[in-house]
Amino acid sequence: MATVNGMRHATAGSPRDAARRRAPRARWSAARGLALAVLVATVSVLPLAAARAPLRVTVSISPYADIVARLGGELVSVSTLLPPGASPHSFDPTPSQAAGLARAELIVMNGGVDGWLARLVAATAPDVPTVVVMERVDVDPPGAGHGPGGEPEESYAGHAGHQHAGINPHVWLDPTLMLAAAEVVTEELARLDPANGGAYHAALGRLRADLLALDAEIAATLAPVRGAPFVPFHDAWPYFAERYGLDLVLSLEPFPGREPSPRYVAEAVAAVRAAGAKAVFAERQLDPRSAEVVAESAGVALATLDPIGGAPGPTDYESLLRFNAATILAALR
Ligand SMILES: [Zn+2]
Repeated sequence: MATVNGMRHATAGSPRDAARRRAPRARWSAARGLALAVLVATVSVLPLAAARAPLRVTVSISPYADIVARLGGELVSVSTLLPPGASPHSFDPTPSQAAGLARAELIVMNGGVDGWLARLVAATAPDVPTVVVMERVDVDPPGAGHGPGGEPEESYAGHAGHQHAGINPHVWLDPTLMLAAAEVVTEELARLDPANGGAYHAALGRLRADLLALDAEIAATLAPVRGAPFVPFHDAWPYFAERYGLDLVLSLEPFPGREPSPRYVAEAVAAVRAAGAKAVFAERQLDPRSAEVVAESAGVALATLDPIGGAPGPTDYESLLRFNAATILAALR
């Protein structure tokens, strides 16, 4: 089970910066508060929380948008930089997205998969408090999937811009690690908006119960295929596979977005056959060609997973995990 360390991220702004950033809202709130006082005289049930503009939170990928929205409710407005259907591994933000980032009051990113956002923050929003999940959550990385011929370096070496400090970054696909991320985000929301700290922590309590229930549900869903050979498209799935007892044989595309060499494909076909895998998996955000070639050559089924989500696919985190679990069950049972 993951734990959260107590370190604050180094890019969080100084107290003076924070005061400067909060000033416009404070003035706005004072004016609104005056109006509210008049209203309260006649409508005494008006919630005080409504007196404040929603905290503007920008996230890199869709799963964090859902988590932040569930923690903040109407107290936050969340925007997601990665468009639905795009892969974080081959994404280039537009100039207007870069411009909007400086107006964010909190940035939540994963680390590792979203290096483009780290560069954008450094260039255009260096003072905006930023949570980098990979820097704040203690991760116990499972043994990475092995490449054909049992040579890990063949599939993972030089995975530049993808790994984070050598640790596989796809932590959000394990709901217990997502819970650890949610705890970090809650602390940050409560720090930026202490008046509503109780509301954020209450929401975290509900989210914790939901994520633990989801974890148990996914484990039950995948129980019939426990130990089955699992051949995903890219190395997004080691935490998921470890958590739910799938035997991660190898990833079909070791450099996401770049077609593997004919030799790698040939070795992947041999590994799929040797493992007795019933299916291989493509992913919605990446060109499926190499998965199609392997499926056809090995004579196994092809199914499509979604590690990110977003319309028209699963738009909330729980649906995302249920979709993938159901897809894996149907293909491997
Ligand atoms: Zn990835």
